[in-house]
Amino acid sequence: MTKTTLDLIIRGGIAVLGHRVQQADIGVRGGRVAAIGDGLPKAAEEIDARGLLVLPGGVDSHCHIEQISGAGLMNADTFESATRSAALGGTTTTISFAAQHPGHMMRKVVGDYAKLARKGALIDHAFHMIVSDTGNGNLADDIPALIAEGHRSIKIFTTYDKVRQDDKSILDLLDLAKRAGALVCFHAENDGLIRHMTEKLLAAGKTAPHYHAQSHPRAAEVEAIDRMCRFAEFTGARIMIFHVSTVEGAQIIRAAQARGVAVAAETCPHYLFMTEDILQRENPARFLCSPPQRSAADQDALWAAMADGTITIITSDHAPYRMDASGKFANGADVAFNRIANGMPGLETRLPLMFNAMVTEGRMGLAAFAHMTATAPARAFGLATKGEIALGFDADIALWDPKLRHDYGVNDLHDNVGYNPFEGTAVTGLPVTLLSRGEVIVRDRQLCAGPGRGKWLPMTEPGV
Ligand SMILES: [Zn+2]
Repeated sequence: MTKTTLDLIIRGGIAVLGHRVQQADIGVRGGRVAAIGDGLPKAAEEIDARGLLVLPGGVDSHCHIEQISGAGLMNADTFESATRSAALGGTTTTISFAAQHPGHMMRKVVGDYAKLARKGALIDHAFHMIVSDTGNGNLADDIPALIAEGHRSIKIFTTYDKVRQDDKSILDLLDLAKRAGALVCFHAENDGLIRHMTEKLLAAGKTAPHYHAQSHPRAAEVEAIDRMCRFAEFTGARIMIFHVSTVEGAQIIRAAQARGVAVAAETCPHYLFMTEDILQRENPARFLCSPPQRSAADQDALWAAMADGTITIITSDHAPYRMDASGKFANGADVAFNRIANGMPGLETRLPLMFNAMVTEGRMGLAAFAHMTATAPARAFGLATKGEIALGFDADIALWDPKLRHDYGVNDLHDNVGYNPFEGTAVTGLPVTLLSRGEVIVRDRQLCAGPGRGKWLPMTEPGV
């Protein structure tokens, strides 16, 4: 405990401190956690946290914000609308994507994207670099220089026209990442399998949205995850498999980890809480995402993989497109499944959905919830001051009311997407107050911060 005056104290709550859960006062000075203890001396500002849980603010390490997709479509969310939604869902850090399109230089892509973040972001943030062109000095100069400056995450697509990388290019990037100290994240689905199935379905007149699931067969994920794990093993690079959705995908990662491959994995709420039959509902375009939702058996396998440490991270994969010509239906209102934009909003619902399942319903518990939604992603991506309530860390803290219930409605989120894919789902346990670097940015579920206050975070060595 310190004798110097604290700026703020969060008093009397049940705090998650690493793996420990205990009553503790949290003292903040200069935006950082400066004291953790019982009966801390009075500070200028006090927050009464009795009856509340005191958790690290969420770290969402996979979200698409103000980004142009591989198909050339702009997200519905700006940094302002996305991070507003994130904050109201208890998240204090985002890692979104500086997306390179072929012919562009990575240095300019990252520079332009950083400008958007500086203007709009309410909360702190880092970027992944989506690499779609390694030529023109990108591989030799821009990317290694950017890694050295703290952009230590590369995202590669194994599918999607224009952005996908072939095996040779992937190996080149893994080699560079190994040398330069970066993490390589994969959207891992076999491109040929998807194109083969899509062509067959369309030829048979099977164009309705729910055929999307068949067009991304589980074998596509299985093959690509295995190949990426083999490449990581071969190069010695550290990798992250994004949005694992299948039993077999989790098994392959578990086996690779057992061989000593440096592979981490994430999954998302829409794989844990939705199954393929959701595409039979009205307006199924709302739920289209890749990989698609799978089966109840896959959900069980994902939970088992979370419990045994194979999957350590839960992200939203927030991919915001409105249900109109600006988004989902940019190619027309009545088009085949493969011409509807993929993705759904999730920045605001990720934590309440996971809290409800992990804490309220008792699946894995409070410490595991905080670990998988904040600590593990911060560590994996080398965000040294984030993801934990600990001395010296940024005071990014969420106060949760474990009894507060909300029934998700048609359009009750604060992003710019216009629908909630979890409409009809009830959650118990919600973040009520949120601090970012010691500043209260949400109080009693009301936003009280403006755009542009968020800071870019350089990544240190990845913790995978
Ligand atoms: Zn994504």
